[in-house]
Amino acid sequence: MTVGIWILGDRLTAKQLSLQNNQKHKQQTPVIFIESGNYVMQRPYHQQKLVLLWSAMRHFAEELKADGWQVTYEIAADFQTPLRNWLERHQITELQITTPCDRPFQKLIQSLDLDCKITFLPDNHFLWSSEEFISWAKSRKRLLMEDFYREGRKRFKILLDGKKPVGGKWNYDSQNRKPPKKSLTTPPPLTFEPDEITRSVINWVQQEQFSDYGKIEPFNWAVTAEQARQVLAYFVEKCLAQFGTYQDAMVTGEYTMWHGLISPYLNLGLLEPMEVIDAIETAYYQQELPLNSVEGFIRQVMGWREYMHGIYHYQSEDYAQNNWFAHKRPLPEFYWDASQTKMNCLHQTLTQVEATAYGHHIQRLMVLNNFALIAGVSPQVIENWFHSAFIDAYDWVMQTNVIGMGQFADGGILASKPYAASANYINKMSDYCSDCQYNKSDRTGAKACPFNFFYWDFLNRHRDRLKSLGRMNLVLSHIKRISDEELAEITNLAEEWWERELSNPLRG
Ligand code: SF4
Repeated sequence: MTVGIWILGDRLTAKQLSLQNNQKHKQQTPVIFIESGNYVMQRPYHQQKLVLLWSAMRHFAEELKADGWQVTYEIAADFQTPLRNWLERHQITELQITTPCDRPFQKLIQSLDLDCKITFLPDNHFLWSSEEFISWAKSRKRLLMEDFYREGRKRFKILLDGKKPVGGKWNYDSQNRKPPKKSLTTPPPLTFEPDEITRSVINWVQQEQFSDYGKIEPFNWAVTAEQARQVLAYFVEKCLAQFGTYQDAMVTGEYTMWHGLISPYLNLGLLEPMEVIDAIETAYYQQELPLNSVEGFIRQVMGWREYMHGIYHYQSEDYAQNNWFAHKRPLPEFYWDASQTKMNCLHQTLTQVEATAYGHHIQRLMVLNNFALIAGVSPQVIENWFHSAFIDAYDWVMQTNVIGMGQFADGGILASKPYAASANYINKMSDYCSDCQYNKSDRTGAKACPFNFFYWDFLNRHRDRLKSLGRMNLVLSHIKRISDEELAEITNLAEEWWERELSNPLRG
């Protein structure tokens, strides 16, 4: 029997089982990497996402070659053709692959016509395997991220003082919601000049025109595990101390604030989750960093990231089709072109995404997702956009984050209430409103902020449905203070906004 290994683009780690198990015979074990042009053209991916993926793949292939593996690197239209040729050339009888995180990709592999046995090996890139999460979930009456996170802290003995949480509390989120101050001095992100490999990928993506979304340059992302570890070290040294306090703040022109920019590397396999958690915890003990920052960051990796992955596999495949509010509106054109909106919060955030393929969690949740939710955009449509636009987005991340968290389309499996907000929240947590042509305080009238009329229209449209969520009752009670005449005007403004959007000549 001859074993061959197919390394998938989002598992660029020597720790995966296929490589570990065949380490002793690496010189005789064929390994293949494939870039498929057809596959990436399924969506208008941000160009930097394609460059990161393919450059990181090409770098990892070189590393395996230097380590003595028998590596084949194919750039092709599809996966099947190069796979079949390679299987035949090396007389491979068993193809080993790390189980893909994304269900559609696993199906694609199963649909390939390959003349060999296919073995999916467990994905060891998460702290909790899918089976462990499912068994935890089945033992619970309620599925709460906070419960899961605490379980993880205990299981992996992170930030514990005996059996108790360090500092006496499990969660310091209440200290992590400070609005931005007038003048903040933030560290610049650590950037990397594209090397020869990255440059050739940039040229390839431009030449083949796989996508026209987003700016391809400047491309500053890390593309190897070594560089990703530098990003982690830089974050610990320069950003972690302030990270927590201002993690929800949004400031014009500040693309990264004190955020870690770690997620693209975690999701590609360039960093291991426990490696990240260990680095943060060690820094806490050695440098006496603020606990709210340290705990807040560990919660993102050990709590949210693991929880989203677990829920994705716990839920059935049709989770992606959920649409609790029955929202059907198309995606506003400006999501693909920031210059098309005068709403400054959206304009700034979308301009940033076009330039970097990145936005932090509050920009994603409370600006981009929030607007789509209150305006009634189809959850599937906005999920597709997030999946295409963000550098760290995959099916498993975006279904839970967008369908569940951002759009509340699952009716409350992930969140206990919809993350819907008016301009009030955006004004509190950013400086966007001070430079906007709309008035943050108006919900009707010529200068009414669309976040305001859409917010009240959303609550009014769905008031019966929202009553079933206990946590919405206080918010809903505020509608009673709005007169019928004003509510009618709010509805009109929302409808007129959509009429204008749908008649936009730029719409395809
Ligand atoms: Fe956004 Fe409204 Fe603020 Fe303008 S006023 S930045 S549209 S929330």
